[in-house]
Amino acid sequence: MPHVIETATSGRATCRGCGSRIASGILRFGERLPNPYADDGGEMTQWFHLDCGAYRRPEPFLEAVVGAEGPIPDGDRLIQEAQSGITHRRLPRVSAAGRAPTGRATCRACKTLIDKGTWRLALVFYEDGRFAPSGFIHARCSAAYLETTAVMDRIRHFTPGLEDADIEDLRAALTV
Ligand SMILES: [Zn+2]
Ligand SMILES: [Zn+2]
Repeated sequence: MPHVIETATSGRATCRGCGSRIASGILRFGERLPNPYADDGGEMTQWFHLDCGAYRRPEPFLEAVVGAEGPIPDGDRLIQEAQSGITHRRLPRVSAAGRAPTGRATCRACKTLIDKGTWRLALVFYEDGRFAPSGFIHARCSAAYLETTAVMDRIRHFTPGLEDADIEDLRAALTV
């Protein structure tokens, strides 16, 4: 079956991108994957909020957009974000931002320690239908690692608690 964008008929599905529930009645994105437990070539579906799908699974998301039956609210922005995630192949790894609580993690971009209190971005790697936490980069190493600094929208999406002052600090760190 092709990937799908459809209205959630129950509120039971959990989004693979952010881990929270997908409310009944909103549009959701479903990625079809081979079911490893089926002998007969069966498939399973992993559900995402539309934003989470555009950010985390850009290729199948765009396929689902092409096959969508009706207009998608905010569709142009979502398509643009997904295309950006294909152009910059590491961009879908970006997860929440925060200040390093310790000085023990090493930046995956510059391979130096991330000082306590410094802004960093958490990364997730996607493999075989799963997202695994995969370390951090300095916010200031974003341009080098991600090949773009246009990451603020996805960071805000995956870091709901950011205050205005945090966003300002982070923006400054991203563009050094
Ligand atoms: Zn989500
Ligand atoms: Zn770094």
